[in-house]
Amino acid sequence: MQMRIGGVEVSSADERWMPVINPATGAVLDKVPEGTLYEVDEAVHAAETAFDAWAGRTVRDRGMVLFKAAEKVRVQHKDLAALLTAEQGKPIREAIDEVRGFANILEFYANIAGALHGDYLGLGPLGDCLVKREPIGVCGAIIPWNMPVLLMGWKIGPALLAGNTIVFKPASSTPLTTLTIASLIEQAGLPLGVLNTITGRGEVVGEAMVKHKGINKISFTGDIETGYRVRELAGSHLKEIHLELGGSDPMIVWKDADIGTAVDGAVRGRFYNAGQTCTAVKRLYLHEDVADQFTSRLRQKVEALRVGNGSNHLVDMGPLSGKTQLEQITAIVRNVAEKGQGTIITGGSRLSGPEYENGFFYAPTLVTEPVPECQLLHTEVFGPVLPVTRVSDLETAIAMANSTRYGLGASVWTKDLSVVREVFSRVQAGIVWVNRHLTIPPEIPFGGVKESGLGRENGLQAWQSYTRTKSLFMKW
Ligand code: NAD
Repeated sequence: MQMRIGGVEVSSADERWMPVINPATGAVLDKVPEGTLYEVDEAVHAAETAFDAWAGRTVRDRGMVLFKAAEKVRVQHKDLAALLTAEQGKPIREAIDEVRGFANILEFYANIAGALHGDYLGLGPLGDCLVKREPIGVCGAIIPWNMPVLLMGWKIGPALLAGNTIVFKPASSTPLTTLTIASLIEQAGLPLGVLNTITGRGEVVGEAMVKHKGINKISFTGDIETGYRVRELAGSHLKEIHLELGGSDPMIVWKDADIGTAVDGAVRGRFYNAGQTCTAVKRLYLHEDVADQFTSRLRQKVEALRVGNGSNHLVDMGPLSGKTQLEQITAIVRNVAEKGQGTIITGGSRLSGPEYENGFFYAPTLVTEPVPECQLLHTEVFGPVLPVTRVSDLETAIAMANSTRYGLGASVWTKDLSVVREVFSRVQAGIVWVNRHLTIPPEIPFGGVKESGLGRENGLQAWQSYTRTKSLFMKW
């Protein structure tokens, strides 16, 4: 599959290609061009050329294009989901959810289009001020491989509605579904050049986008260390930056929680997308009164998960998304075992057998009583491994929840409103769920605190972040 610049399919200037591997089988699925600085320039040029006409349309008109694009995606959702599963590995059910989630986002922004407005300030004898919301110009969006379709929606929905044009870069390992969607959006009426999708290596294409003087804002989702690099590079041009980075979400289960619901929440929260979700439950804290019962039910459910090729409708968890991810998880769990940093009560190894032979499958893993210095409690573990810690009081649970560099999401499972209030006010996170985890509808602003990021996706806040105010101050 080729890149899309100005609505045209292009390969790279030096004719180099990158393979896209199916992580369930290890087979090459397709190839995409390994972009160069030349294509980044071309994409920025196409976005600059398309800007005035797109920004000059009414916001409702832009919203209508988003509606039509969402409709096209909905019509094709089964094919798109199958492609997503093939390149990323997630079970088909989750891929369908993700593609529908993309359509939901576009529809959300299309729906609010007619209600968006600037501001008016009456300043008495000083005069009157009109505050207009203008698009920023050409925006760059860079996303990772774990949820390529959803994250594409989070970036392009508000940016397009606000009247910006975009240079978009998916991860090297998962470019196919987003490229297909980019083409569908153009078929829905998005003018050519408004959305340009380029493929290539992060250190080449990504960095060139971040440094490019023609790009006025970068919205980046990915690893914390890459986020620091992006911030450093973007700073030299005073580019606006939005960073959505890693997380290590705590889940606190209080003694009065509905155990059945909470166990299901922990299983979904950790093993959805094979644990490769920024807001996955990455640390579980159980009140000691319910810890034994909870752990035994959790173990039963985890051992019942069907792991396999995501294209099989009966599968609950697919492979890890690539060889690198499999090697990382294997090394982390081996380290925990070798150093005696916790007890692996289930899983703990790569899966073997004919079904798993060439894919990147890892067993769903539970580690109980991790020691305080256990790596699982301090770094983001992007795979199906859950550390389970028992706590006796809320003070300790909150202190442990806050004991990392991350601050993306957190959840508390309880019926006690005073516990909810304590957790909501004291846990450092951009979102706190009560009796649920993971779900983020387009209406809810989402983003991190501490090293989990800067800025917010979704909601009115994301639309605002893709605009700048311009004031007209009049003295009569
Ligand atoms: P990554 O940082 O390696 O890559 C993300 C993207 O950045 C890719 O497109 C990559 O090609 C590009 N990139 C790599 N180096 C770059 C550079 N020097 N300059 C510019 N671009 C560069 O991250 P990853 O491993 O692909 O993704 C996993 C991470 O993403 C996890 O930490 C996860 O928590 C995070 N994530 C965060 C959110 C959120 O909303 N906060 C959502 C999903 C994933």
